[in-house]
This record gives sequence, C-alpha cells and structure tokens, in this order.
Amino acid sequence: MRRYDTSLQLIPESNPHMWDGVQKAGMIAFSIGLLGLVVSTLGGGPVYAGIGLGLTILGALVYIVQTRKDGPPGIKNHYIMFSSALSRGYLGWMAAIFMTGFYIILYFHPQHLKSLVVLVNPLQVWLSGSSAWNDKGEMSQWFLYGFLYTVTILVMGVRALIKYRHSRYQILRTLSVMFFQLAFAFTIPNVLAKLNDGLYFEWANIWPLRYYELFPYSVEDLLRNGALGKFMLFWSIASILVITPILTYFFGKRWYCSWVCGCGGLAETLGDGFRQNSDKSLRAWRVERWLIHSVLVLIVLTTGLMWLNHIYGGSVLGSLSGKFSIAYGFFIHSIFAGVIGTGFYPIMGSRVWCRFGCPMAAVLGLLQRYFSRFRITTNGGQCISCGNCSTYCEMGIDVRWYAQRGENIVRASCVGCGMCSAVCPRGVLNLENGPVRNRTGIPV
Ligand code: SF4
Ligand code: SF4
Repeated sequence: MRRYDTSLQLIPESNPHMWDGVQKAGMIAFSIGLLGLVVSTLGGGPVYAGIGLGLTILGALVYIVQTRKDGPPGIKNHYIMFSSALSRGYLGWMAAIFMTGFYIILYFHPQHLKSLVVLVNPLQVWLSGSSAWNDKGEMSQWFLYGFLYTVTILVMGVRALIKYRHSRYQILRTLSVMFFQLAFAFTIPNVLAKLNDGLYFEWANIWPLRYYELFPYSVEDLLRNGALGKFMLFWSIASILVITPILTYFFGKRWYCSWVCGCGGLAETLGDGFRQNSDKSLRAWRVERWLIHSVLVLIVLTTGLMWLNHIYGGSVLGSLSGKFSIAYGFFIHSIFAGVIGTGFYPIMGSRVWCRFGCPMAAVLGLLQRYFSRFRITTNGGQCISCGNCSTYCEMGIDVRWYAQRGENIVRASCVGCGMCSAVCPRGVLNLENGPVRNRTGIPV
C-alpha cells in the first residue's frame, strides 16, 4: 500500500538512507580524504594534506549530487529522526567531536595545520601578496581558515541548491551567501590587502560581530592608511548606524543573517542537515534572550572601556580594558562562536552562535522586533498542526503555535530563512515585508 507523509510525499518502502554504488564511492572518497587530513595534522606533510583536501571535496560533491538529484526536492521528513548522523546518534556525536576538534586545533594548536598552510600558501601569496610566514618565521593559519570556510560554503551550497531547487527564494538566498563569502569575505579583502600594503578589511563583517573593528587601535590603523583606510572606517560606522537600520526596517534581519553573513552562510549550507536539532523549549528561549543580550552589553562595554582608556591615555583603567578585549576575544569569539558555535551543529542545531551569542544578531533582532515591517503571516484556518515548521526552524521558534492561532510571527530571533514556509504542506506561512494592512486591506 502506498503511504504518504504530512508533506504529501511518498514514503518509500525501503529506507532511503541505504546508499547505491555511486553514493558509496563518494562516501569512501570523502572518508579517505578526512583520514588524509587527520594524518596531515599529525605530521603527514603537504602530500597527505593535498590528497586529503582533494578527496574530501570530490567525495562530498559526488555523494551530494547522487543523493539529491533524483526524487522530490525539499526536506524529506521520513527517517530523519532515525538517522544517527542527523538526530544526535553516535554519528552525530562523532561529527561534533571532529568539528570541535578542528576549531580547538585552529585556535589553540595551529602548528598542527602546517601541512595544510604549506599547501595553500602559493594561493595566499598570489592572492594577497603575502606569505603565511612573517619575517620572524611565525605562521598564520587565518588565510587557510578563510579558504576552508569558503570551500565548505561553496560545496555545501551546491547541496542546498539541488535540495531546494523547487524554491526560488531558497535558490537566490543560497547563491547570495555563496557570492558574499567568495567575493566580499574572501577574495576582495585579500586582493585589496595586496594592492594596499597589507591593509586587510572584511566588508561584510559588521561591528559588533567583528568585535575589534571599532576598537581604538583598529580605528587608528585605518586612519593611518590614507583615503582607502578612511573610507573603510566610514563604511564600518555607516554599516551599523545607517545601512543596518534601513535594510532591517524594510526586510527584517534576514537581509544580513540569511543573505550576507558568513556565519549564517555556513549554518545554511554545512549546518542545513542539522536544523531540526535546535531546542524548541521555552527554557531555551529564555536562555537565548539572556545570553545574546548579555554578549551585546559585553561588547558595547568593552568597546566603551577601550575608548575611555585610550582618551585618558591609559590612566583610567591601566591595562584592564585591554584585558577585557583579550577575554572577549577568547571566550566569545574563539570558544563561543568558533568551537561551540560551529562544532556543535550536529548536537544543538545549525544556528547555535546566531541564536545564543551573536551581538550583531541581537542588534538586528531588536530592530526587527520593534522597528521593522518584516513578519511571517499565517493563514491559521489551513494549518493541520503537522509541526513541520517548528521542527525545521533552526532558531528554535515554535512556528506551529502561531500558525494554529493565525497570528503573525514577529520574533527577534527569526532569521527569515524561509524554511518553515518551504516545508509547510498547506502554504500557511508567508514571509512579508509590505506595509501592514488591516482586515479591509487598508495600510495601517
Ligand atoms: S520562523 Fe521560519 S523563517 Fe524564521 S528562522 Fe524559523 S524557519 Fe526560518
Ligand atoms: S503551519 Fe506548520 S503546523 Fe501548520 S500545516 Fe504548516 S507546517 Fe504544519
């Protein structure tokens, strides 16, 4: 007998997670590639790093295309909750340990990445004009990180493009995060650094996400670098004070969190398969509000203290404000955003950092909640309470609760990913920016 799930998709008789030959070949190549990368971090040399990186990318692409090209597009509900990798089973935990381990090595033991740095160094020299090693022989791992980050978003972006090929919104959104990562976060900053004597500036990372961008030493550095440096400073200030409020008023926080930001880009591509693991409880919502606003207060305070100390020549706080900045960088930027924020995707869902920690998301959320036209409208009469929308909301919003009551959803945390709407079998949910109208259609 044919059986259909709540999205009216045919439930296959056999488990769809059984792999065919091509999928197996892709997964074997991917696994050997990962092994090569692990060996390279244990001193295996650039050959292992090269083979590892190549096979990981190739294997992932083969597996993704073969898995996604046939069958209906969109999220397939069946068996997700039985999948060890996608539902916090042992494979999910292994993935979390692997990803967390990578971030710990990246931040605290970068010497283990030397083989990979050697591998990408020619690209770094060509693109940015500088080597990963400075005059003192010290190695920087950050170009490598940018490279791996970009490649991951591009490869997993292909997966998202195939998976959501039925949705114009999802296709445009995915292309947008791929473009902004490749152009604005990776290529343009490096090329500009090459043309301007090492002046590096991330155009798409806005303060307070890029927490040190408005610290006194960063501002002075920009002011020392001629007209371009001054323009970069102007861009930093205009981004947070002018561009952010205007775009958020018209489009909600989605213009940044789901279309531009690199953290959001990684969450929507690499983290997409784990979105159902976000905690939907009221307790999590309470923790989220306390935590994210505390981080915002902390970075505003840190920036203020840095300036106070700077203006009074260090006489107010001595070296204390500097320690504040170092502590913020360590606990919030490295541990929270990096190790936990990305490493815990398979356990806590794909937007751990965006939901609980990102101060930029906090600013955008406040604007969205109190000063924006963006909302998700609900046609409550059509809702069959299947719960797909709540299940796949990566921000842990209980979308169904609103849909059942026919209420508009205006939540500070909503990143406007549109997945609740894409996965709803009844077309109940619509992301809207237009003027709010009353029941007779008159704008209010
Ligand atoms: S409510 Fe919908 S659009 Fe907003 S974050 Fe959740 S799934 Fe995305
Ligand atoms: S609004 Fe949510 S609960 Fe209602 S039908 Fe759509 S997906 Fe199901």
